[in-house]
Formats: sequence, C-alpha cells, structure tokens
Amino acid sequence: MAKKKFKAESKRLLDMMINSIYTHREIFLRELISNASDAIDKIYYKALTDENLEFDRSNYYIKIDIDKENRILKISDTGIGMTVEELESNLGTIAKSGSLAFKKDNNLKDGYDIIGQFGVGFYSAFMVADNVTVISKALGEETAWKWESNGTSGYTLEECEKDLTGTEIILKVKENTEDDQFDDYLETYRLKSIIKKYSDFVRYPIKMDIKST
Ligand code: ADP
Ligand code: MG
Repeated sequence: MAKKKFKAESKRLLDMMINSIYTHREIFLRELISNASDAIDKIYYKALTDENLEFDRSNYYIKIDIDKENRILKISDTGIGMTVEELESNLGTIAKSGSLAFKKDNNLKDGYDIIGQFGVGFYSAFMVADNVTVISKALGEETAWKWESNGTSGYTLEECEKDLTGTEIILKVKENTEDDQFDDYLETYRLKSIIKKYSDFVRYPIKMDIKST
C-alpha cells in the first residue's frame, strides 16, 4: 500500500473547508453528484465517436446508499471511473480548484461565502466526513483501485475488487458535536432536500434506496 502526502496548497484548502461554517457543508453532495454526472457524461461523449462503445441510458445512474448504523454515506456512479494514475493526479492535488486563488486575491477570511458559491469539488467531502474512501474502476481496465484518506495528512492507494466500471465515494460521516448535526447527512429526507436544491438539473437518475432503519 502506497502512502502519500498532500501538496501544501491542497492541505491549506482542506483546512479551510473543514473549518467552514455549518450552513455551507451541505454542498458536498452537490459536488459529489456533479462529479458523478461528469463521469457519466465522459462515457456518453466517448460513445458518440467510439463505435465499440454503446451508450444505453438505462445503465447509467448515480446511486446514494445510507448505512446509518455505521455512519456510512455512499455515492456511486457508473461513469468512466479513474485509473490509479488518475486517482493520484485528480484526488491528490487541488490544482484545478480556483477557490483558493480567489480567496487569496480578494483577501477573504476563512468560512466566507466562497464555499457556498464556488465549485470546491471533491475535497468538500471532508466537511462532513472524517474518512473518505474512493473505489474506482476505469473504463477498459481490469483492476480497480482504492484511495483512502482522513483528509489531514495524506492518502493511501491499493488495488481492490470492483465489478462494474465506475466510482464509489464512501464517506464515514462525522460524529455530532455540540454545534453540528452531522447525523442529518444520514437521513433520507435531508439528502433528498439537498439534491432537490442543488442537483435537480442532473441528467441522469439519482437512485436512493429507502430503507427504514
Ligand atoms: P472538478 O470537478 O472541478 O474537476 P473535483 O475536485 O470535483 O474538481 O474533481 C477532481 C477530478 O477528479 C475531476 O476532474 C475528475 O477527473 C475526478 N473525479 C472526481 N470524482 C469522480 C468520479 N465520480 N468519477 C470519475 N472521476 C472523478
Ligand atoms: Mg467537481
């Protein structure tokens, strides 16, 4: 298993997001769903020019699973997935995120509305989770890979099992604190309302099992 450290800039943005104020936290779901939708789009566009690839709509969806007892929230997609190199380059740095630069340029304080306004991306998962696992199998690859991080120091990468092409983002939801009700993110009704608010336009079905736990 490989252990890697985050780049300094990534660490800075992580700290900022983890300490972001309560009202912005819910946007993590918008970010993860938009990544899932982008990943499906990538297959869709590839299929337009690749004769060997057929895009059958019914095979492409985003799925949300809740395991309240173990405080696990999982966002899966049947999108294009990531190779081990992509896991490393896409999730190991926040080079693409414009929000840190924006904040610097405008001399804004931590927790300012920037989190709510901008696409802060994958790392926003650490606003609600103290551990994030990404299991991904890229289109055309035989092996799947598991990326895991507690968001503070770095991440691990190892080979793993996965049947379908695509990605699973597994969040270990934080314990409640005096001020913050993280339990909310394990409630179907709460997740539904966040999806309605931010992800209503997503072109692929967002499935959610209603288990009475
Ligand atoms: P952005 O979406 O703006 O590029 P993110 O931080 O949200 O930034 O994601 C970084 C990158 O990680 C994405 O560009 C994409 O390449 C990859 N990625 C994230 N989530 C997924 C996913 N579910 N499936 C495939 N690739 C993903
Ligand atoms: Mg994104």
